[in-house]
Amino acid sequence: MNEPHYVALIFDRICLACGIGRAANVSYSLGVRFYSACYKRNVRLERNIPLLPQFNFEPLRYVGYKMIPCAVLEGDLNSDVKPQRQNNKRNFYSESEYRLALARLKLMLDSGAPLDDITQFVSVRERYADEMYQTGYALAKWSRSLDSSKAEKNEAPREKRRTDIEAQLRELGYLKEDFPDADHPERL
Ligand SMILES: [Zn+2]
Repeated sequence: MNEPHYVALIFDRICLACGIGRAANVSYSLGVRFYSACYKRNVRLERNIPLLPQFNFEPLRYVGYKMIPCAVLEGDLNSDVKPQRQNNKRNFYSESEYRLALARLKLMLDSGAPLDDITQFVSVRERYADEMYQTGYALAKWSRSLDSSKAEKNEAPREKRRTDIEAQLRELGYLKEDFPDADHPERL
């Protein structure tokens, strides 16, 4: 994800799935914004994501969800300690991204790709997932602090807010487009 994508994610209120405006459910770590019903359909607990039989076996699933970011949970934001991305079935993932990760992994296995290539592929994806999670966590936390300060004062003018967001993104290392570009999260 690059900076314009994050800015759009923060500013736009369009649901990625159905295009409705005023979509309030955002996950910065997944890079998605949805209307609430669409969020529930598209961001799901690992164990609730239905899979075709050829993808539905434990070792593949285990590697599959390590390769994608999970949603930052509201409760994680209360912690003062920056959490590490957890890879487990109790997390919420983007269904489409999960399916795609599994499909790519399966394709490599089926085509007899060398183990080194597969390991490399997985570790690049894991790094991407970690960075998505950490950036998502920072943005969610910052966005929440903004919301609470907004409740106290009048809303800052839109342009000022955009400047603040861009400054925040630069602090997080954007504009350099140094995000791993091996894979971008798939848009629905
Ligand atoms: Zn929708």
